[in-house]
Amino acid sequence: ATPTAVMVATGVGANNGVLIKGGDALERAQRVKYVIFDKTGTLTQGKATVTTAKTFTGMERGEFLKLVASAEASSEHPLAKAILAYARHFHFFDDSSDTNGTEDVAKSGWLFDVSDFLALPGRGVQCSIEGKRILVVSFYHCNMAVLISTWDMVFVFQSLTEAICYLQVGNRKLMVENGIDIATEVENFVVELEESAKTGILVAYNDIVTGVLGIADPLKREASVVIEGLQKMGVTPVMVTGDNWRTARAVAKEVGIQDVRAEVMPAGKADVVCSFQKDGSLVAMVGDGINDSPALAAADVGMAIGAGTDIAIEAADYVLMRNNLEDVITAIDLSRKTFSRIR
Ligand code: ADP
Ligand code: MG
Repeated sequence: ATPTAVMVATGVGANNGVLIKGGDALERAQRVKYVIFDKTGTLTQGKATVTTAKTFTGMERGEFLKLVASAEASSEHPLAKAILAYARHFHFFDDSSDTNGTEDVAKSGWLFDVSDFLALPGRGVQCSIEGKRILVVSFYHCNMAVLISTWDMVFVFQSLTEAICYLQVGNRKLMVENGIDIATEVENFVVELEESAKTGILVAYNDIVTGVLGIADPLKREASVVIEGLQKMGVTPVMVTGDNWRTARAVAKEVGIQDVRAEVMPAGKADVVCSFQKDGSLVAMVGDGINDSPALAAADVGMAIGAGTDIAIEAADYVLMRNNLEDVITAIDLSRKTFSRIR
């Protein structure tokens, strides 16, 4: 294409909220064979909401949510934000009124203090809860954990062995890697969530799974239409996610994608891109998160969702400013039109 044609196409793109970083990227888009979509925040709205919270050990619901929220308070993950919003709502309104005006009280220290916080990418979070002690009482060689909630009571029991409260919040992988047993009842509940396209988050309290949260993130309204459109253009859509296989398959089925790669660790998304490039095919990657930036850079055409993180936007060749997946088709179309005219 002539420089003028490229300039015109770039202008047309910009008018439609499709920012193109250079003529090479514009040219490559017409030859793309695979479009790999990140799941969370790209195919889905990225508005995760907790739909279920179930405890298995008889722990009181409010206490359970407060513990989980305390652990997640230091995490930047969208799932953490969803858990915090849900727990906050429950804490202040006992689930009976609306969330309006909760933001102020949100920061006023209703959570437990935590220490030793650790975020494990692709797995979850771990931390110790301060100001909460477990007393291990030995009774006829049987260790019983007694949970106490105030410091006053520590003095009553101070002669007894004290253990800290350790929380682990995340997926199966996190539990398995830490040798935490998942009871059949818990596993069945998680499977049920996953089959309905939800993400199941397990909560282990001192190595015992005490509850599970179900989190839903609805598809973007245009997602299915865009997938169908790409297939009609002879482009194969693929989905890649760090989420578990069962949830991933359920979401892919809903949106009409056949090729899925799940339980991909954050660093692995770029490897997935490369695996599709092996036979010389050109690959586009569409993503929004920090996790996606190596894959966006590895792809022949990296497309960042405009509402995504700065790092993703920086790594991409295209920025889809309107946060609308239809612009993936707009971008490929624009490239095809610009370059077929000249050939
Ligand atoms: P995605 O590709 O969907 O953005 P991530 O790699 O960010 O996936 O996360 C993959 C999985 O790791 C999540 O589905 C969740 O099970 C678990 N996970 C990651 N961070 C957290 C967290 N802060 N709390 C709970 N679970 C988490
Ligand atoms: Mg994402």
